[in-house]
Amino acid sequence: MTSPSFSLCVYCGSRPGNNPAFTEAAIQVGQWIGKHGGQLVYGGGRNGLMGTVAQATLDAGGRVIGIIPKALVEKEWANHSCTELIVVDTMHERKRLMAEHANAFLALPGGIGTFEEFFEVWTWRQLGYHDKPVGLLNISAYYDGLISFLKSSVEQQFMGDWQMGLMQVDDIAERLLPALIQAAGLAPEDRLDAV
Ligand code: AMP
Repeated sequence: MTSPSFSLCVYCGSRPGNNPAFTEAAIQVGQWIGKHGGQLVYGGGRNGLMGTVAQATLDAGGRVIGIIPKALVEKEWANHSCTELIVVDTMHERKRLMAEHANAFLALPGGIGTFEEFFEVWTWRQLGYHDKPVGLLNISAYYDGLISFLKSSVEQQFMGDWQMGLMQVDDIAERLLPALIQAAGLAPEDRLDAV
């Protein structure tokens, strides 16, 4: 098997949310990864948007690495369909391995787990612990409130514009995904044989 042309870590809800557009976006992201010869790195669950993005990636011929703490194997329904399922001891190990395996990070709509993971890689980027692109997919204005809060934090001088500039926000997956992969210095392949 050829090695993936890129590895994208996706953070997203362990629930589907109440808007079908969230599930549609998770499918689009998975399909895009598969169609471009990529690999998904994610939390290894079968529930919610997490399960959807993993299944869509597999269906489109992509590789999927799921990384899940053993305490969550039952709770989040560990996804044994993953190309590789890594069961780790702690949440910290999960997050470290997810970050190590990725060339870029993307958050879709989700809850506090998603927020925590997204903010962690964003803050690591501003501290220079890594230089991988970080993206936020703002489907159906889900993150509008967060973005306006962050802008008010810049206005009130707790953040600089440069920190905002370290994440890429878009509402269109097909535009944000190639931008992230290109910013990582990689070129997504065109796999014409993929779904
Ligand atoms: P959520 O967005 O809350 O549905 O959670 C999405 C994912 O984040 C799930 O796989 C959770 O296990 C994970 N998660 C929850 N809390 C944390 C945390 N403190 N650190 C990292 N991941 C978490």
